Amino acid sequence: MPKPVIFTIDDDASVLNTVARDLRARYGQNYRVLPIDSGKAALDYLTKLQERNEAVALFLVDQRMPEMNGVEFLEKAIRAYPQAKRVLLTAYADTQAAIDSINEVGLDYYLMKPWHPPEERLYPVLDELLEDWKVHVRLPYEGIRVAGTLWSLPSHQVKDFLTRHQIPYQWLDIEKDSNARHLVETISSGETKLPVVFFPEGKTLLQPDLKELAERVGLQTRAALPFYDIVIVGSGPAGLASAVYAGSEGYRCLVIEKAAPGGQAGSSPKIENYLGFPTGISGDDLTRRAVSQAKRFGVEILSAQEAKRVFIKDMYRIVQLADGAEVSCHALLIATGASFHMLKMPGAAELTGAGIYYGAAYTEAMYYKDQDVFVAGGANSAAQGAIYLSQFARKVRVLIRGPQPTASKYLVDALEQNPKIELMCNTDLVEVRGKNTLEQIVVRNTATKEMQVFDASAMFVFIGVRPQSQLVADLVKRSDKAYIYTGADLIVDKKPPPGWTLERDPFLLETSVPGIFAAGDVRFGTSHRVASAVGEGAIAFAFMKEYLKAL
Ligand SMILES: Cc1cc2nc3c(=O)[nH]c(=O)nc-3n(C[C@H](O)[C@H](O)[C@H](O)COP(=O)(O)OP(=O)(O)OC[C@H]3O[C@@H](n4cnc5c(N)ncnc54)[C@H](O)[C@@H]3O)c2cc1C
Repeated sequence: MPKPVIFTIDDDASVLNTVARDLRARYGQNYRVLPIDSGKAALDYLTKLQERNEAVALFLVDQRMPEMNGVEFLEKAIRAYPQAKRVLLTAYADTQAAIDSINEVGLDYYLMKPWHPPEERLYPVLDELLEDWKVHVRLPYEGIRVAGTLWSLPSHQVKDFLTRHQIPYQWLDIEKDSNARHLVETISSGETKLPVVFFPEGKTLLQPDLKELAERVGLQTRAALPFYDIVIVGSGPAGLASAVYAGSEGYRCLVIEKAAPGGQAGSSPKIENYLGFPTGISGDDLTRRAVSQAKRFGVEILSAQEAKRVFIKDMYRIVQLADGAEVSCHALLIATGASFHMLKMPGAAELTGAGIYYGAAYTEAMYYKDQDVFVAGGANSAAQGAIYLSQFARKVRVLIRGPQPTASKYLVDALEQNPKIELMCNTDLVEVRGKNTLEQIVVRNTATKEMQVFDASAMFVFIGVRPQSQLVADLVKRSDKAYIYTGADLIVDKKPPPGWTLERDPFLLETSVPGIFAAGDVRFGTSHRVASAVGEGAIAFAFMKEYLKAL
């Protein structure tokens, strides 16, 4: 933590040097004394300190300066540092200005020049002020800070990305924190771009894309090698399980992840049915353990890198990334899982990230304390989301299309026993309303056809999933719902799929292209469970090993 700053500002160089010398002699050990020769230069410097989130303890400012006098400076400076103590250095003729400024800028003291000897006329005053400052100050947060609004999708994405990577940060809502707003305005010239990410060493990023952010926080976004034995696309439970086995057996293995490791499971607040965790385990925790296990075995994991396309060249399977880079391998596992359907109704796209969230969006849940929120969906993920949200919200209404929830029994029991949760069965969401943020929703009871309008602060959507198999759309055989066929599902009339070139039939979990495998929620026949995805990831590795042996 850098030392808090004592500013001393005077346009007279000899006075400035003397004050600085006296201040350093007494306070230099615990404070950084900054002598500056004009109010304007000091304000510029203050902005830098704010960006670095450094504390200012005291302003000791000469009243009589040509461009900006001491009181004018303090008026501006205390907007940035309202807790800093304020002392004016005055000549006898400025006494009235000093007295007036006691109210104007909350002046703590005015010192007549000359202040010598400092032991009698300077230190006792400043000792007392600094002691008081120390007692009352809230020292600045030392890590990454993200300034934005609750209603901006890029702000939500940045927060979610940091949370999913378990990188701590402080959230500054510029609608509630005038200091944060001022700071953002000084950084963005003209148009305000949100969020602004402040790093402790003083660097900032304006509305960064996730790759830029990943690089800045030190995550790996580029493959170290051009070729790997095994490449895995997707770092949900299936991808990570496969990676752990591949790494543990010494294969050169790369995992490519477009967002953050953990996949859907990583967004679960509590997985209660995964073997070995009788009291449940959070998706965060499971992911952290799996990622460190894979890395311990030498697996490389790229974050914020989307695999766009896969193609074949001779015996190589080549993955093209969103930034144009290519990585080749012998065996490829598609473990890209599934994502939630987006609402298809007017206004829904505009309100995404501004009250409408897909998946649990746990980063946002706590901001809806004591408000009324909605959950759309009746399966396990929606049930978990509702239970989690009920810790913060005043009321959670769960919109379920069918006559009852389809979640597991233990979750339905928990929903029914929770006094804050109301299950609204046979209910269709028909409209979302709001100007800049979600304000209302309209629902229809499918049995009675009755329409109802509710005020809504937020809506968390969990309405069915679709497989993320686009990257191999023109390469492997998929179902009409875009799930990837593997193994026995490819055999029709005892014949392998058209174009299959090998003597043997496709292995279990192998796709219609030799050497390309699929596991987890993206695979036709998935059971949409963490344990199944983990199991399939492990089995897929066993068959990739067989495939590699035969090359
Ligand atoms: C909120 C929630 C709670 C759940 N709770 C439970 C539970 O309690 N118990 C249970 O058994 N199951 C639960 N599930 C289901 C379970 O999480 C999934 O079945 C499981 O995560 C599927 O794993 P997967 O590895 O196949 O895919 P996913 O977990 O979907 O992971 C796929 C990964 O691939 C990445 N990806 C996709 N496309 C690309 C691309 N082109 N390039 C790079 N990366 C890509 C995605 O970003 C993602 O990280 C829950 C799901 C949700 C959403």
